[in-house]
Amino acid sequence: MRLDKYLAQVGLGSRSEVKVLLKKGKITVDGIIIKDGRFQVDKNSNGIALEGKNLRYQEYFYYLLNKPQGVVSATKDNLDKTVVQLLTKEDYRDDIFPVGRLDKNTEGLLILTNDGALGHDLTQPKKHVEKEYFAQIDGKVTPETITQFAAGLTLKNGEKVKPGELIIEKISPSDTQSGTMSEIRIVIHEGKFHQVKRMFEAVNMYVLYLKRIRMGNLQLDTDLAMGDYRKLSEIEIENLK
Ligand code: URA
Repeated sequence: MRLDKYLAQVGLGSRSEVKVLLKKGKITVDGIIIKDGRFQVDKNSNGIALEGKNLRYQEYFYYLLNKPQGVVSATKDNLDKTVVQLLTKEDYRDDIFPVGRLDKNTEGLLILTNDGALGHDLTQPKKHVEKEYFAQIDGKVTPETITQFAAGLTLKNGEKVKPGELIIEKISPSDTQSGTMSEIRIVIHEGKFHQVKRMFEAVNMYVLYLKRIRMGNLQLDTDLAMGDYRKLSEIEIENLK
């Protein structure tokens, strides 16, 4: 590939910023100063350096974002801020996309990557990747609700969903419409549109707040602030595959 493209892709800046570095003679290939961005290099070469410091090419990037409400799970949107716009200038690349979707008012764990194969795999229904959510529900979740969810529900539109595991954390009186708020965790194995909200609608309850806390083996860090993100470790990436 072209040296200027390589340098831009390893994060040294835009094509024009890279041109300046080249012009200043700061880039060497196998110890020789190269000033021409058209110079051809092997992206896996270990001999490309900036001011003597070897560079390493990285093809794929993986981030775990704690998605805030009000931001849409898309790469482009005319009205709303998108999840990829939460990346800093250093981390942003135009090929990064969110793996699956969280609703605009849902918070929590969202993977951002430019690894199309991984993104495709994780959202394949037949992969059955577990997704765990914490939710506040307007209504009283009972052992009977747990049994209904475990049996697999029929949604209001007649669509069937696979069994979901429901865990009650807390039930308290509240000023919601039903007078009761249930705090629950739910594990589902599919990713249908508005799935958790529609599952509760099917039993005549309403989701007040929804946050994804786990996807497969990957848990949302408790100390990752809303809107912040971090890189996935090699092990976490391997575990997702
Ligand atoms: N289920 C929903 O209803 N919304 C989400 O964002 C995720 C799962």
